[in-house]
Amino acid sequence: MDSYLKFRNVRGTKDLLPEEAELWRWVEEVIRKKMEDYNYQELRFPTFELTELFKKSTGEDTDIVQKEMFTFKDKGGRSLTLKPEGTPSVVRMYLQYGLYNRGILQKFYYIERMFRQEKPQRGRYREFRQFGAEAIGSPSPETDAELVRSALDIFNELNIHGIKLNINSIGCPKCREKFIREFKKFLCSRLDSLCNDCKRRYSTNPMRILDCKIDREKLIDVPVPLDYLCDDCRKHFSGFKERLGYLGINYSIDKHLVRGLDYYTKTVFEFTHSKLGTKDEVGGGGRYDGLIGFLGGDETPASGYAVGLDRLLLLSPQRKESRGIDVYVITLDKASDLTGWKLVNELRDSGFSADKDPLGRSMKAQFREADRQNAKWAIVIGEKEREGGSVQLKRMETGEQKEVPLNITTIKEELKC
Ligand code: ATP
Ligand code: MG
Repeated sequence: MDSYLKFRNVRGTKDLLPEEAELWRWVEEVIRKKMEDYNYQELRFPTFELTELFKKSTGEDTDIVQKEMFTFKDKGGRSLTLKPEGTPSVVRMYLQYGLYNRGILQKFYYIERMFRQEKPQRGRYREFRQFGAEAIGSPSPETDAELVRSALDIFNELNIHGIKLNINSIGCPKCREKFIREFKKFLCSRLDSLCNDCKRRYSTNPMRILDCKIDREKLIDVPVPLDYLCDDCRKHFSGFKERLGYLGINYSIDKHLVRGLDYYTKTVFEFTHSKLGTKDEVGGGGRYDGLIGFLGGDETPASGYAVGLDRLLLLSPQRKESRGIDVYVITLDKASDLTGWKLVNELRDSGFSADKDPLGRSMKAQFREADRQNAKWAIVIGEKEREGGSVQLKRMETGEQKEVPLNITTIKEELKC
């Protein structure tokens, strides 16, 4: 049939078949439950925003804004962009709805689709899903550690093991100034050997050079922000490490781990997994004490992270047992069929998942279907049962069978056993 198919899903998008959708639903339930245990509230936001929002908050000099955004004009000529990440929308909502009026500390999470125009490959799609968390209002390293723990807790609950945590501190605008000066001085004579992106970053966004995958080898002994932290930032980083220690969380310090924009401050972290090869990052985050002020709000400390769910799922979390239906109703003749159909609907009204065959197939075929549907119970109605006002109730796993009156109250009681 394949060769006749005219339409396929667009490259870089993913279809979820029922068993995958079920897995995803479970994953989403785990995330919601865990985030709410940590007292984070869900936010949902639109698929697109004004392009300007991402330019400002994701940052002009990032790969996302430079190369990856799906941007289009609406009929009024306004430039819109499909959301490539969540933080800009969360901060926009925080400011637009005055969520700061609800209390000094606001903690949010989201599970949303994101869009980036990248070369599709394993673990990298054009439409993908992220969950993320943002804690707005707390300057404390305790909050950074809480965020890290919430993500690790979710990985654990999903039976995904072997995720590594890398951490670093990139300081604040105050201590960064000195770092950037020394960093540029160091690189000045080696600029020719760097890749073209890094040559450009040297003047637009030098700190980003540190995490360049191409030039990494050449940057081994380069100055790093961690060595230039001011007292406040150093204390913050110690506090963060101490909290992770209390929580028994293992980490590595990666002095080259950075986020390139001015409003990112202090803590940065990422989660990686060796099974993912070169695209080993599952998620990342950190502090962005400058962003809310930068977008026009009062200076407000904030911290957050985002995890790519598609990439996380490549690490094959243990699937839950596939869910079967509670009851499959099997009817043996035309008159029983109507009785069976009514019963199916009564069962559904009573909170059981139930189904029957609409095709008038043989008893054998219906039993096969009950098996395929992983039904817990089969209810059989034939002429004999109908005349006696009863049904045969069969527990599929054991084959035990008994006759019970055709009466929803009695059947409900039996099904609960
Ligand atoms: P990468 O270095 O892999 O491009 P990134 O720095 O662009 O990642 P972030 O913007 O920090 O990633 O997004 C957080 C997470 O979202 C990533 O760790 C990854 O799991 C996921 N992610 C990012 N881009 C994609 C994509 N195109 N397809 C699938 N997942 C993605
Ligand atoms: Mg990327």
